[in-house]
Amino acid sequence: MNVTPRSDDPHALLRAHGLRATPQRVAVAQLLLKQAMHATPREVYTKLKTDFPSMSQNTVYLTLDHLEKAGLLRRFHIAGRVVFDSNTQMHDHACCSRCGRIMDLASAGRIDSPDELGKWQVEGQSRLWSGVCPDCIQPPR
Ligand SMILES: [Zn+2]
Ligand SMILES: [Zn+2]
Repeated sequence: MNVTPRSDDPHALLRAHGLRATPQRVAVAQLLLKQAMHATPREVYTKLKTDFPSMSQNTVYLTLDHLEKAGLLRRFHIAGRVVFDSNTQMHDHACCSRCGRIMDLASAGRIDSPDELGKWQVEGQSRLWSGVCPDCIQPPR
């Protein structure tokens, strides 16, 4: 799925969203926003640990939280994991029950809201499809 390209410059991107470009925010933005990806706070921490040995898991979490509040990331829960998503457009997900890979699916851009939500002002909808991905399905012998 195509994602609207964003600024390549994390400093400009952070400033455009009203955030001060601290080294931690720049590092996290650089990692997550250059391509559409999903990552748990722990994965982000593990990836940045080498370059930023002084960055704690807590700092990573707080940074992700700030980026989410500024609208640069979306947070969702899959199979008990908190996952941050750099694709902030409305979309659905598929999650492999064996390897845990998460895939973005276009959600056709329209909302079919249930009748019960007749009086609501619906802002979003996201579905989670689960199953076994092709890589995890054993080829038949
Ligand atoms: Zn899989
Ligand atoms: Zn996604």
